[in-house]
Amino acid sequence: MKTWTPEHLWEVTLGSLELQVSRPSFSTWLKQTIGISWDGSSLVVGAHSSFVAEWLEKRMSVLVEEAVSKIVAFPVDVRFKVVTSFDASQPSESGIPSITPRPHTINMSNESSFLGTKLNTKYTLSSFVVGTSNQLAYAAAVAVSSRPGKAYNPLFLHSGVGLGKTHLLHAIGNESVGNGLSCLYVTSEQFTNDFITSIQTKQTKSFRDRYRSIDVLLVDDVQFFRGKDSIQEGFFHTFNDLHNSDRQIVIASDRPSGDLSLLEDRLKSRLEWGLSAEMDRPDWETRVAILQKKAGVLGITLPDDVLNMLSQTFLHSIRQLEGALNRLHAFSDLTQRPMSLTTAQHALADLMSLNQHPSPPSTSEVLLQVCALYDISLASLASKKRTKALTQARRTVIYLLREDGQCTLTAIGHLLGGRDHTTIRHMYNQVVSQMPSDQLLQKDIRTARDAIATSAAG
Ligand code: ADP
Ligand code: MG
Repeated sequence: MKTWTPEHLWEVTLGSLELQVSRPSFSTWLKQTIGISWDGSSLVVGAHSSFVAEWLEKRMSVLVEEAVSKIVAFPVDVRFKVVTSFDASQPSESGIPSITPRPHTINMSNESSFLGTKLNTKYTLSSFVVGTSNQLAYAAAVAVSSRPGKAYNPLFLHSGVGLGKTHLLHAIGNESVGNGLSCLYVTSEQFTNDFITSIQTKQTKSFRDRYRSIDVLLVDDVQFFRGKDSIQEGFFHTFNDLHNSDRQIVIASDRPSGDLSLLEDRLKSRLEWGLSAEMDRPDWETRVAILQKKAGVLGITLPDDVLNMLSQTFLHSIRQLEGALNRLHAFSDLTQRPMSLTTAQHALADLMSLNQHPSPPSTSEVLLQVCALYDISLASLASKKRTKALTQARRTVIYLLREDGQCTLTAIGHLLGGRDHTTIRHMYNQVVSQMPSDQLLQKDIRTARDAIATSAAG
């Protein structure tokens, strides 16, 4: 009978396993393992982290035992354990034969634990600017990154385009990979293609195995699933497989909440199990913070007038805001012009004409129209009195002065009877966060805006 060294026996087993499991799965879980002891009936295999060892024990031990048993031609018991050092020069513990180092460093690199589209390492939690418009989504992303599968599952992010969904998905992915988890980022189109190919090539089992073996699944742009029933069915099963084993699922959609009307009911009801977080257009303060952060990354300082111009012109999406900044940077760099308002107007002329906004309403006009709307006096608006109408009027006026009038918090505080800017900030934040669910407030703001616009035009 052949006498095996543990290393050699495991090498041969790996050769056979490589043909049986998917390539990503092999490189993620098996490639960087080694045989560390063999007593003629049981084999101990070393992995570099307890996470990998446990994973192999739980999910691959049957397959692995079969493979080893075939090679030695009798039933074999296989166990996995963590080996902290793969350095052969280190004395090995408890009589385990010396370990032959494998050629690669043992670490869970992006490459090995990441199976789908490569994660963009620039999209991190720390490069994400948090404001009232996206704080819930951000907090959920942080929770999911630190307790995947436990905090909110699934996490469902939605917003209009260019407001940070893909950024947050990648950020969760980057955190997870950093924590040694396997992670797959796919767009719904990639998922669809993968699913269809697996049917065409009769590899549905390996399709399922591939998705099932993932700790964190990130699916972007699920709005493209709309109306594709068989794909939704495939996704539904993948979802259940993962959810049942407490793996984290994060989904993003370019549609507002509730507008998943074309998704199958049972898939929709699954999405409702977790947390749904909507992101809104960023308010002025957040737009300024984003510009400053992005300018910092580019190594430039934006003069105040340029900062104001950009943050007041590009309101609809962060992608657009970022695009304008990048264009300005490239322009001033290539033409050697200073970073000034004139340069910005030059560089962004065409974009600006597409984003033409009327000039901000005057503060007196805003105050006047809001007082008229609620039938109150300016003095009572600025007073400390708290009736229902006054509170609602203050909410409306703060929002409009900030959003449309571009007033600072301090200036608003002055206008409202010398209130402190932190009080105004608090009230403004409250308005912004309540706005999506407060129909009455939305209606009042619309009415006041119309009145302001009409009086400005007349
Ligand atoms: P979506 O997927 O919602 O369409 P993206 O995630 O692709 O939007 O965001 C568009 C661009 O804006 C990206 O370059 C992203 O980094 C940037 N971005 C979005 N939100 C933020 C934010 N809160 N802080 C910093 N950058 C952001
Ligand atoms: Mg996106």
